[in-house]
Amino acid sequence: MIIGTAGHIDHGKTTLVRALTGVDTDRLPEERARGISIELGYAYTPLANGDVLGFVDVPGHEKFVHTMLAGASGIDFALLAVAADDGVMPQTREHLDILRLLGVPAGAIAITKIDVVETGRIAEVERELRALVARTVLAGAPIFAVSARTGAGLDALRRLLEARAQAHRRRADDGHFRLAVDRSFALTGIGTVVTGTVHSGEIAVGAHLVIAPGGTQVRVRSIHAQNRASERARAGERCALNLVGIGHQDVGRGDWVVAPPIGLATARFDARLDLLDGETKAFGSAAALHVHVGTARVPGRLVTLEAQVDDAGSGSRPLAQLVLQAPIAAWRGDRFILRDASAMRTIGGGRVLDPFAPARYRRSPQRLTVLRALEADTPASQLTALIGCEPLGVDLRRFASAGNVRDVSAVVPEAGVRRVTGEGVDFAIAEGHWQTLQVRAEEHLATFHQAHPDELGPDSARLKRMAFPRLDNALYRALIADLLAQGRILRGGPWLHLPGHDDAPSAADAALLEKLLPHLLDTPFDPPWVRDLARACAQPETLVRNALMRASKRGQTFQVVRDLFYHPRAIRELAALANSLQATEGEVRAAAFRDRTALGRKRAIQILEFFDRVGFTRRVREKHLVRADSLATIDIAPAVRRECGQ
Ligand code: GDP
Ligand code: MG
Repeated sequence: MIIGTAGHIDHGKTTLVRALTGVDTDRLPEERARGISIELGYAYTPLANGDVLGFVDVPGHEKFVHTMLAGASGIDFALLAVAADDGVMPQTREHLDILRLLGVPAGAIAITKIDVVETGRIAEVERELRALVARTVLAGAPIFAVSARTGAGLDALRRLLEARAQAHRRRADDGHFRLAVDRSFALTGIGTVVTGTVHSGEIAVGAHLVIAPGGTQVRVRSIHAQNRASERARAGERCALNLVGIGHQDVGRGDWVVAPPIGLATARFDARLDLLDGETKAFGSAAALHVHVGTARVPGRLVTLEAQVDDAGSGSRPLAQLVLQAPIAAWRGDRFILRDASAMRTIGGGRVLDPFAPARYRRSPQRLTVLRALEADTPASQLTALIGCEPLGVDLRRFASAGNVRDVSAVVPEAGVRRVTGEGVDFAIAEGHWQTLQVRAEEHLATFHQAHPDELGPDSARLKRMAFPRLDNALYRALIADLLAQGRILRGGPWLHLPGHDDAPSAADAALLEKLLPHLLDTPFDPPWVRDLARACAQPETLVRNALMRASKRGQTFQVVRDLFYHPRAIRELAALANSLQATEGEVRAAAFRDRTALGRKRAIQILEFFDRVGFTRRVREKHLVRADSLATIDIAPAVRRECGQ
C-alpha cells in the first residue's frame, strides 16, 4: 500500500512520516535550511506480514500544489495532517478537494502538534474537520490526535495504518503495465533510473517498454519495488526501474513507462468534468488553465461540449474537451486536476473519457452519445454501449489502447455483433449497423446506375467516396466482400454493380475478344487503333469497336480515347508508374510521365486524363495527384490481375 500525506504547510506532515518510519523525507539541503518540503519525499517501513508500507510525503506550500498533485497520483490511502493550533487552512481544503477529485479511495486524519494546545482546542478542531470532510471520502475516516514531540497518539495511528496496509487488496487490475514517472536520475555504473508508482499491470526484469508520450523504446535491466531489489514490478507498488535505451534527461516527471500496446500520446482529450463549487466560470469556451494528469502538468484550454451550466448550479459536471499545449499520455478513466491559468487555484478535475479526441464534429450529438457510452463502469459495458451507438463500427485496437484493456476479446459482446479482423484491423460493429451499411451500398449503386446507364458501375474506391467517406478502409473492404459473397452486388473487372446491371459477353463477342485482346498487348503502352485491329482480324471496324466498348464496361479493356483501347495489364503497369512518380515526386506531371513511359507527350496526357476520369488521380492545375485511397483500394490492381488470369 502507498500512503500519501496531505495538508497545509507546517502542519507536521514530514515530522509525522519521520515519526512513523524513521526516515527524514526532507533530504534536499534547501529543504533542510528552510525547514519546508519542496520536493516529494519517500519513506518505507516493513510490515509484520513481510510487505512494505510506502509513504509519499508531499509539500504543503501553495506554490508547490503541482508537486503535491504528482505525488498524490496513484496513492491508495491519504493521511491528512491538520495542526491543532492552526486548524483548517487553505491547503487543507485544497488538498482535500484534490484527494476527492483524484478518487483516492480511503484515508485517515491526524490532528498534529497537540502538545501546543489546550485539550478543548483538540475537540474544536475535530468538530471543524468533521464538518469539512462530511461529503468527501474522508467522511468516516478515523481521526487521531497526535504529537511528534510527546509521542502521544502515534502508536494508535501506526497500528491503524499497519492494519489497513495488511488488509489492503491489490487494486483490481487487468490492464497492461504502466508506471507514472515522478523522478529520473543517473547512477554511476548503473545508468538511467526512473521512479514512480505502478498504476496497473506487472512486468519482470528484461521487459521491453515504451516511454509515453515520447515513444522511446526501453528495456528494464533491474527493478526495486517498495525499496527492495525485485524481479517484478506490480500495480500498487512504488518502483525504481533501471532503464536501458534512454538517457535520464530524456525521461522525467510527467512521463509514463508503459507496455508497448498502450504507448500513446495525445494533446487533446475528451472528459467528464467535475468543477468545484463556484468555479463554473472557468467553464467558458477556450478558458486557459493547467491540466494535471498522472505526474504531468501542461497548460491547455478547455472547450465546452455541452450547453453551459450556470454558476448557481453547484458542482456542475459537463462534458468538455481539453486541448493541451504539449502531448501527454492519459487513458480512459484516468483522473485529472484543473488549476487556473496562473496556477493559484484548483478549479476542479475530471475523468478522461477518450484520449483520442477529434477536433472536428466534437460537439455533434453522435459524438456526445459516444462520450456518454464511454462513461459506463467497466470496459465491457463501455464497449456494449459504444457498439450500439457507432454506426461505422468500433476500432477495437484503439478502444483497448485508450482504455488499457489487455484482453479486448473478453469484453466484446457475443450477440448481435460482427467482428471484422484482418491485417492490422480489428473492428466490432453491430449487426444492425452492418446491414444498414450494406443497404446504403446497394442504394448508392442503384442511384449510380440510374445516373450512368451506360457504365457498368463505379469502382470500389469511387463507391466508397460516394457512400462511406468516413468508413475505415479495411472495414469497407470487408463490407464489399460480404456483399459480393452474398451475391447482392457483383464485380465486373474493377467495377461494382447490382445484379441485372451487366451484360455478359455474347458468344460472338467472346470469340472476337479472344482474338482482339492479345493484340492489345503487342505494344501494351501504345496499342493498335480499332482500325488496325479490324484489319488484323479481318473484321468490320464497327463490329470491333462495339465489342471493345462492351468489353470496357465489363472491365476487360479500358477506353483511353475514342477507338483506342488498353489492355488491363497495361493500365495496371501505367498506374504503377504513376504511383512511383507520386511516391518520389509527390505529384505526377505529364513530362515526367512521358519520360517514364517513353510515350509521346500527347499520349501521356491522354492517359493521365483517363486516370483523372476514372478517379485514380485528380487534376490540380498542371499536375495529377494519385488519390490517397487509390493506393489502398485501387481495385484496378487485384481486379485486373484476376482478369488477366495472373
Ligand atoms: P510540514 O510542512 O507539514 O511537513 O511540517 P513539518 O513536519 O515540516 O513541521 C513543521 C514544523 O512543526 C517543524 O518545525 C516541526 O518541528 C514542527 N512540528 C511538527 N510536529 C510537531 C508536534 O507534534 N509538536 C510540535 N510542538 N511541533 C511539531
Ligand atoms: Mg513537509
